[in-house]
Order: sequence, then C-alpha cells, then structure tokens
Amino acid sequence: MENLTCLYCSKPFERPVKTGRIPDYCSPGCRRLREFKVRAIKTRLQQLWDRFSRLKHNPSPFKDTNGRTQNQQIGDLEREIRDSEAAAAKLLSDLDTNPEA
Ligand SMILES: [Zn+2]
Repeated sequence: MENLTCLYCSKPFERPVKTGRIPDYCSPGCRRLREFKVRAIKTRLQQLWDRFSRLKHNPSPFKDTNGRTQNQQIGDLEREIRDSEAAAAKLLSDLDTNPEA
C-alpha cells in the first residue's frame, strides 16, 4: 500500500486506485480548499497592489480613519504585501517539492 501525504492538510492517506496520476489531496474537499486559498491570495495581492499604487500616485496630507499618515499607510501596505507574497511563495514551494501537484 502506498502512503501519501495530502498537500493541503498534510494528513497521510492511502492511494485509492493504482491507475492514473498520483493524487495530491486526501479528498476533493482539500483540493477545492487549496484552489480557493490560491485564488484568495491572488485577489488579496491584487487589491493590495492597487491600493499601494493609488497611495503612491495621490499624495495626501490627510490621515485615514485609523489616524495613520499616508507614509504609515504605505508602510502597513508594504508589510501586508510581503505577508501575502510569503503565503503565496509557501503554496508554490509546496508544489515545487511535489512536481505531480
Ligand atoms: Zn487533506
């Protein structure tokens, strides 16, 4: 019996059938959750970059509703972008270590 590890939940599982490609996920639910996560991160990054670009191109002396100056907002955005990129890189490196994914 071949023991595999789910790319999404890391749970070990057995390969159900011997034919076809090696499955990456223990269940269809895990496959869908992972696709959802990838899409969510992509959407998030797009939104962050859009906001970042707007802030950079429209200098303003006013603070936002949280009392942050524009430079503080830009700094916070840069941190958020780095975090989202790190999450995306993690997902992609999981794929790299398993070329069947
Ligand atoms: Zn799973």
